[in-house]
Amino acid sequence: MTDICEVAKSMGFRHVAKVSAYNLAELESVLKEALDCDEPALVVAGGPCRVAAKLMGTNTYTVDPQKCKACGACFTLGCPAIERAAEVVPGKRYQSRIDPAQCSGCDICSQLCKFGAISRC
Ligand code: SF4
Ligand code: SF4
Repeated sequence: MTDICEVAKSMGFRHVAKVSAYNLAELESVLKEALDCDEPALVVAGGPCRVAAKLMGTNTYTVDPQKCKACGACFTLGCPAIERAAEVVPGKRYQSRIDPAQCSGCDICSQLCKFGAISRC
């Protein structure tokens, strides 16, 4: 299979990086480095197809209502599996819950939650 990074290097790109699309910290750091670079840079973000993983029975994730602080961070991902649960501040803040039928087990929401409220089932 053609390695896009090697192709880019052969075209003269000196700043080439490959990163997991499912590792938020690494992704943020590599993108920041590329944006700060004063020449053209290439970042290849990839990982296993989540639809295929879902079909193969990957574990889903769940929210612990005892730990969820209703901070709203996980809602910003736009994942269709993350839904509003208990209303903590009327009309403003809600705890979250995860619909297992839609969760593909990518782990991103778990990395984003600072309160350790999201974990694998
Ligand atoms: S990021 Fe964590 S604490 Fe915040 S709403 Fe989501 S599950 Fe709750
Ligand atoms: S693990 Fe991935 S697919 Fe599942 S709820 Fe979290 S962000 Fe959505």
